[in-house]
Amino acid sequence: MIYLDYQATTPVAPEAANAMEPWIEERFANPHSPSRWGNEAEAAIEVARTRIEEAMGLKGGGIVFTGSATEALNWALKGTVEKARDGDRDGRNRIITVATEHAAVLDTCEWLAGQGIDLTVLPVGADGRLDLDLLARELDKRVLLVAVMQVNNEIGATQPISEIANMAHDAGALMLCDAVQAFGRVELCKGPDMVAVSAHKIHGPKGVGALWMRKGSEPAPFIHGGGQERGLRSGTLSPALCVGFGAAAKLADERTTRDYDHVQKLWKAAIQALGAGWTINGDIRHRYHGNLNIRREGLDGARLIADLRDIAFSLGSACASGSGRPSHVLKALGLDYRKSRSSIRLGFGRYTTQKELVDACHRIAAHAKSQEKLDA
Ligand code: PLP
Repeated sequence: MIYLDYQATTPVAPEAANAMEPWIEERFANPHSPSRWGNEAEAAIEVARTRIEEAMGLKGGGIVFTGSATEALNWALKGTVEKARDGDRDGRNRIITVATEHAAVLDTCEWLAGQGIDLTVLPVGADGRLDLDLLARELDKRVLLVAVMQVNNEIGATQPISEIANMAHDAGALMLCDAVQAFGRVELCKGPDMVAVSAHKIHGPKGVGALWMRKGSEPAPFIHGGGQERGLRSGTLSPALCVGFGAAAKLADERTTRDYDHVQKLWKAAIQALGAGWTINGDIRHRYHGNLNIRREGLDGARLIADLRDIAFSLGSACASGSGRPSHVLKALGLDYRKSRSSIRLGFGRYTTQKELVDACHRIAAHAKSQEKLDA
C-alpha cells in the first residue's frame, strides 16, 4: 500500500502513539478529579497544551481542546455570533468567507444564514486565491467576522492570512483562520483572533482538535456542562488524545525545516515522474507542496482510484470523493464538471519515501495513458 492521502489524514507518529499508550490503560484517572492520579493526568494535559501552543507560535492567547477541528470551527462561528447578539459587537451581523473553505466553515455559515446572519461568500481566481481588493470593497461596519483558511485542503493554495486579518481588524471585525492543513507543515500566519487546528493532520490521533483564541476574542461557550476548559468547552478531556496531540505538535515543531525540505523534494520528483499531459490545479507558487492536485484531459479520476487499489489517493477531497459530488473547490476555480472529474489529489509528507512516490506516479501516469487508449 502506498499512502498518498496526507490531506485526508496522516500516519500517527510512533512518538505520539508511544506517548499515548500509558494514558489508555494504566493511567485512566479523570483529569478533572482532585485525586493524585487526577492531578497527574491534568498535569500531562497541561504539558500537551503548552507544546501545542508553542508549536503554533501565536502570541496573546491560548488553546481550548475540542473533539475535532470541525467542532472548533463550528464553535468559533456560532459562538462569535451568539456573543455578538448578546450586545458585544455593536450590532454587527455579517460574516464574510470564501468559496473554497472547508465544509466545516461553509456549512456552518450557511446554517447561520438560516438564523439571520448576512453571509457573503467571496469567489476566488483560477489560482484559488482571494482578491484582496474584492475583500476591501466588502468590508464595512456590519462585518462581525471574516473566515479564511491558510492552506486549502483540496488544492494546497495559500491565502495571505496576516493581510486579511489586518484588513478585518481595520474594519473592526474579527478574523477566524482554519489552519488545519497549515499547522505542523508551514509557519502559521500571525494576526487572526481564532485559529482552528486538528491533531490527525499532524501525525497525531483522531478525535481531538483545538481552537486558539486571542484573549478577549473568546466565543460564547458551545458545550455546557461541567465547566472544563475555563468554562468554555465542557466535557471530560481525554488525557491520551491530548498527550498524543502534544507529542505530535512537539515533533512537528522540531522537524519543521526537515519535513518542509523533504516535501519540496517529493513535489519535484512527483512532477518529473508523472511526465507530460498533466495540469496542476491551483496556484503553484503560493501553495503547500505536499498537495499535488492535477488533472488530465479525458481522465476518469474515480476509475483510476478504483483500478489502483494499492495506492491511496483521492479525488479533490475526501468528502467530495465519498459523496460523488464534484468538488466545490475545483468548481470555484472555474473548472467544469468534466475537468473536475478528471482531477486527482496526491498528498505526501514526512513518512513518504521518494521511491514509493515515484513508483506510484509512474503507475498513475501509465494507467492514465492506457485509459486514454481504451477510450479512444
Ligand atoms: N478544515 C480543513 C481544511 C480540513 O482539511 C479538515 C479535515 O479534513 C477540517 C477542517 C476538519 O478537521 P477534523 O477532521 O479535525 O474535523
